Amino acid sequence: MTQIAPSFAGSSLFTVTAPSGAGKSSLLAALIRKDPSLHLSVSHTTRPPRPGEENGREYHFTTVEDFKKRLEQGEFLEHATVHGNYYGTSRVSVMNQLNAGYDTLLEIDWQGARQIRRLFPETVSVFILPPSISALEERLNKRGQDSPEIIKQRIEAAGEEIRHASECDYVIINHDFDLALTKLAAIVETARCRMSRQAIRNRELFAQFGIPCSTGL
Ligand code: GDP
Ligand code: ADP
Ligand code: 5GP
Repeated sequence: MTQIAPSFAGSSLFTVTAPSGAGKSSLLAALIRKDPSLHLSVSHTTRPPRPGEENGREYHFTTVEDFKKRLEQGEFLEHATVHGNYYGTSRVSVMNQLNAGYDTLLEIDWQGARQIRRLFPETVSVFILPPSISALEERLNKRGQDSPEIIKQRIEAAGEEIRHASECDYVIINHDFDLALTKLAAIVETARCRMSRQAIRNRELFAQFGIPCSTGL
């Protein structure tokens, strides 16, 4: 299916990928607190909610049957099976945000990030690495939201996720949280300064200065 390039409204699309427990949800939540203009896409998943998770906030929690129906209807921009559950990104929701000019973040696994880059080659992809496997294990245990079996499964899956880290444009090692957050914010700001984005967002200024615009917009 042909997609409209996200750059047409001057918006940027980001994927953030990491093994479970590396800190991506905490980093993204802190990033959005700093910059509420950023939009975080809420995925659909067949995973059961964790204690404290709310339908429509962390995820749209759904059944396998409903997920498959949506998939058949082409509702997902990308989808993947992760840790035995289905996850998918809503096409309409993301396209609406991008078309409205909002910079949009997708917190998705490597399989999904790959599909998104294929659809939108200008996507900025970020990988979050934990400082060590033992730190990852410790964080998953400390988070205390998954059963020991689920934690074991996620640690086993971490290697496979990390094997795909080099497919991303940027990598952040989440050792010191605030430093990792500063780096993530810097990546967002860098993407926003791209000539193609600025030319669209500052069309009048560019015209006043007579800056030729190779994007033709
Ligand atoms: P977490 O890894 O501890 O945050 O656990 P989650 O259950 O929230 O997420 C499980 C995996 O699914 C992670 O790798 C996410 O990045 C991934 N994921 C979440 N939403 C999506 C989505 O819409 N599409 C894809 N492809 N992956 C997703
Ligand atoms: P993910 O979304 O990647 O699964 P979370 O954001 O849920 O990871 O983080 C996993 C746990 O690790 C949480 O309890 C979080 O508070 C903690 N955490 C995140 N970043 C750091 C860090 N830099 N140092 C120590 N603990 C962290
Ligand atoms: P969790 O179930 O712990 O929230 O997420 C597990 C994994 O699923 C994480 O790696 C997360 O990034 C990924 N994930 C969450 N939503 C999506 C999604 O919509 N698409 C894809 N591809 N992965 C997702």
